[in-house]
Amino acid sequence: MSQSSWFHKMIGYKQAHPLAYRIFIQLITLSLLLALVSTSIQVYNEYRRERVALQQQTDFITSSHIEGIRKGLWDLDREQLLLQLKGIMNFSNVNAVMLHAVDWGEDIVVGDAPENLAQAYGTTFDIYYIDRTGHETDRLLGELTVYHDMAAIQSRLLRSALEIALFQSGLVLINGLLLLLIVHFMVTRHLEYMSRYARRIGAGNLKQQLILPYKKKTSADDELDSVVNALNDMREAILEDIKQKDQIEAELRYHRDQLQEQVARRTQRLQDAKEAAEQANLAKSQFLATMSHEIKTPLNGILGTVELLQRHNPDSAAQDKLNAIYQSGDALLEILNGLLDYARLEEGMYRPEISTFSIRELVDATCLLFAAQAQAQQSDIKVQISDALAERYYGGAGALRQILSNLVSNAIKFTQAGTITISVMPANDPDHSDGVFFEVEDTGIGIPEHYQTQIFERFSQADDSITRRFGGTGLGLAITAQLVSVLQGEIGVSSEEGRGSLFWFYVPLKADLGEPEVLSHDQTSLPALPPMSILLVEDTPINQAVTTEILMQDGHQVTLAQEGAEALNAVQRQRFDLILMDIHLPNMSGLDVARRIRATPGYNQMTPIVALTADVQPSKVQQCHEAGIKAVLPKPFKQDRLHQVLRSHVTEPMAVDPSKEVSALLDMELLQSHRSALGGQRLATLVTHLQSSMALGLSELKQMQREQDDYEMAEIAHRLAGDADALGAVQLSCLLRTLEAGARDNDVDLVQETMAQLTLCIEQTIAELKQAQD
Ligand code: ADP
Repeated sequence: MSQSSWFHKMIGYKQAHPLAYRIFIQLITLSLLLALVSTSIQVYNEYRRERVALQQQTDFITSSHIEGIRKGLWDLDREQLLLQLKGIMNFSNVNAVMLHAVDWGEDIVVGDAPENLAQAYGTTFDIYYIDRTGHETDRLLGELTVYHDMAAIQSRLLRSALEIALFQSGLVLINGLLLLLIVHFMVTRHLEYMSRYARRIGAGNLKQQLILPYKKKTSADDELDSVVNALNDMREAILEDIKQKDQIEAELRYHRDQLQEQVARRTQRLQDAKEAAEQANLAKSQFLATMSHEIKTPLNGILGTVELLQRHNPDSAAQDKLNAIYQSGDALLEILNGLLDYARLEEGMYRPEISTFSIRELVDATCLLFAAQAQAQQSDIKVQISDALAERYYGGAGALRQILSNLVSNAIKFTQAGTITISVMPANDPDHSDGVFFEVEDTGIGIPEHYQTQIFERFSQADDSITRRFGGTGLGLAITAQLVSVLQGEIGVSSEEGRGSLFWFYVPLKADLGEPEVLSHDQTSLPALPPMSILLVEDTPINQAVTTEILMQDGHQVTLAQEGAEALNAVQRQRFDLILMDIHLPNMSGLDVARRIRATPGYNQMTPIVALTADVQPSKVQQCHEAGIKAVLPKPFKQDRLHQVLRSHVTEPMAVDPSKEVSALLDMELLQSHRSALGGQRLATLVTHLQSSMALGLSELKQMQREQDDYEMAEIAHRLAGDADALGAVQLSCLLRTLEAGARDNDVDLVQETMAQLTLCIEQTIAELKQAQD
């Protein structure tokens, strides 16, 4: 293996197994250091051993040769001395011996020449003469120096040191490599496997449990097993977390879907409610139109009759009263016409009559119409018609005339000694080409700013004081605005309080020709009733007059009471077939009067009382029933509706006291009142409606109960309770209201309990309602 490839292998190993490499390097360094120390100690010991051997040798030389040399020196026997000195030379490591004989003054040298002995280590022994007693004397015979070869000793020591060092290093290297292998097989390869596993877990691969593939199972867990267990526990925990997260997500998804469904349901319900409200609004307008129309018939009758009477009654006192009746009737007719127009317009039934006309003529005619009124108010009317206008236009002249009349009429009405200016000009801005602008400006009382925004809404008037001063219904401008919109125009106002107002409107008009459309009206006839004696309790003179007239026309005898006390007096004196009671009376309310009549024995304790009131809210109607009133006739009323009520309450025998006619499920009194007011057939239809609405409602309720949509349950229960109330199904309504409350409070037990009773209660109620019709 070449050196560079070995080096590359080392680098590669270092990068692949940095820990093992570090352990290896540190171990080798440390072991080498230790080897060095141990080698030094060994060499040092050897050196000491050598020194000791040297000393022992020297001692031995002294003991074995010194006597021979002493004798040789004493005897001056050179031969002997040389022999002795050569004998010393035989000792190992002695490379020279030198003897200085004092008596001869000569140095005898054996071995290396003294000049070569610079490196040698010499030991000198002094040799004295020993006398006959055997004691050493002061007489120095000679000096013996033995030279040891230190270089040889040193090189031996060095060799031995090198050998030891080499051996130790070899051992250390083998040890290191063996340890590296052990560490690799027992630790690092497992660590590397674990790190790869941990990376897989990080990447989301959690399928497999961690098992170290090369590790033998030992009886007791070691440190690696603990790490493996910890990693596996971690994997379990992550898996558990993921499971929980999935569960929560699934729940969230479920709730979100539910919520979406609920929102969809509620949106649908709102949509239905909106459509129902629009329908109801239309029905109301239709009702308004029908009612106004129906009232106009008897009103025309009244006015005609009064006119007849005026002609044939010369009595001036009577003339005054007839005039008063006529004027009131006329005013009423005007209001009704307004209502009728408005209702027709709102219903979309109004079609403008299309014709060709001259704007100048139309404006002049309108001015002429109001000239007298303006004069009475000491006001002037000015007209400014632009020369740029066409001679004749094609469009809804009638509607245009009414719009202009309404605006001029208001301008005159709200201006005292001022000027009313009517201006007409062609619309020449790009948005309004092909049309005409009208302006009606006055110098009158003006309109408060806050009110200007709602001025075109129906029944809207600036404030009560103006209504009291100037009268009116607040319908004029609403009708005007509707007419403008029918003509596809625009209307607006600008005004300053105390300085005057400017009403403007724009209508698209063309100078074309076309076929006009014509509107037609229906007529109805009224049935007659047998004559009765009736007490009318009413405080408003006009209502007194009108109702009395209607009743008297039918041949009834009418006694009038202006207020409660008068009515109570009347019932003491005379028996009546029927009492017609206004509820809003001065001093004592109609309800109190009814209660007193019911509580006072006499002619009229059982006489049917019919309330006349504009307030027909269910709670008010309930109060009327509680006060002993048999029926409620909403004001204003149609003549035949009054006939219907009169007939049902008088021709039917007065049943037992109505309060005794009580059923556990139904409010019989209310039902009876409905039957007389609506007729049996209509009531039967309503019962069928209630039945299907309850069936549908019940299935909806059950579904919402399953879906735990308490909000929706409460809404449905509330609606159904209202339906039940309308037909006097008191127990059912009570149960539904309990359900509603339970659902609103999220009271599951209460909801369950009421739901369990509901089916039976609906069945029984419907059965009893059907029975009650017969
Ligand atoms: P009304 O029949 O009560 O006059 P309108 O709809 O015609 O009903 O008018 C509504 C209200 O607008 C009036 O009661 C009055 O307060 C105000 N109004 C209308 N025209 C004028 C005007 N030219 N000057 C001042 N106020 C006006």
